[in-house]
Amino acid sequence: MVEEPQNAQFVRTDVPAPNRGPLVDTFGRVGTDLRVSVTDRCNFRCTYCMPAEGLPWLPRGEILSFEEIVRLVGIFRRLGVDEIKLTGGEPTIRREFVTLVAMLHEAHPGLAMSMTTNGFLLDRLAEPLARAGLDRVTVSCDSLLRHRFAELSRRDAIDRVFAGIRAAEAAGLDPIKLNCVVIAGTNDDEVVDFARYARETGYVVRFIEYMPLDAEQHWERAKVVPSAEILARIDAAFPLVAEGDGSEPATSFRFADGEPGGVGVIASVTEPFCDTCNRLRLTADGDLRACLFAMYETDLRTPMRSGATDEELERLIRANVWVKWEGHKINHPDFVRPDRSMSMIGG
Ligand code: SAM
Repeated sequence: MVEEPQNAQFVRTDVPAPNRGPLVDTFGRVGTDLRVSVTDRCNFRCTYCMPAEGLPWLPRGEILSFEEIVRLVGIFRRLGVDEIKLTGGEPTIRREFVTLVAMLHEAHPGLAMSMTTNGFLLDRLAEPLARAGLDRVTVSCDSLLRHRFAELSRRDAIDRVFAGIRAAEAAGLDPIKLNCVVIAGTNDDEVVDFARYARETGYVVRFIEYMPLDAEQHWERAKVVPSAEILARIDAAFPLVAEGDGSEPATSFRFADGEPGGVGVIASVTEPFCDTCNRLRLTADGDLRACLFAMYETDLRTPMRSGATDEELERLIRANVWVKWEGHKINHPDFVRPDRSMSMIGG
């Protein structure tokens, strides 16, 4: 039996990581989807993510340069990663972000590249980003109501965000997806309104369960709205049809009456999908994490800056992924929150 990595210790397994073939872990999962955080900073202060005053930001010298990001993505690509999602913090506030997208596209043509953003700067960036090679965007939006949006994000920015979403659509960054974190007693009365909005616009709205990754540690289980409950409420108003082959609990749905758009759920707390997780995360300062809740990271920046070859970096990456734990422990009594909160990891 494989021992799980615990509390920041890197526990090696008896069997070393393979040195060829796909980026596999000891449970047979293959890492193919890399989230690349390009900054830990954000221009919003969503209450469930970051304190009003912000966080101690990473020193600039610790942030990966564009060249370093392009190089690491190339190594992951050779190891079988076929999709990257640029994130943060807020990716669009990284200086010259469009140039990074262009560099990635040029160096790695054919690699699917999307971004998750709060949408605030999309009205001016959507078009240049599409031209630079970005394929699509996911925009975070937790309320359709001005006052609540402002309360949740601590920014009165709903008009800018909706202008950004329209600009993304006009630029062809589709299918447009919206991410909505649902918090009991805060915005859960809007799930049917969001579904109606999806039908009217043709967008896909995905409801994310609130996770214990908020910097202020206000998360509590009572604030989690189970995805099954969200889907039941929407289905009662607008009957849903599950997409997929039925082999796993469905996470994507279309509307039974044929209206456009759809809804989805990310049930990380109540129905964890760890057994099929193909995601890996690269933090803005160059650490590799195989799980949002991982208790260990592998520093790729320091060896890279000390002259490590691609083969040496590849070995570090393989070793990290190999010992990816079976699953996060949110539902276990011995759950320990990771040191970094969502914006510092890259959601
Ligand atoms: N700033 C970008 C954005 O707004 O999409 C990218 C980074 S943000 C950290 C990525 C996603 O994580 C957003 O959809 C956000 O709502 C979500 N998120 C942040 N804290 C969360 C939490 N405690 N539980 C669940 N989702 C969270």
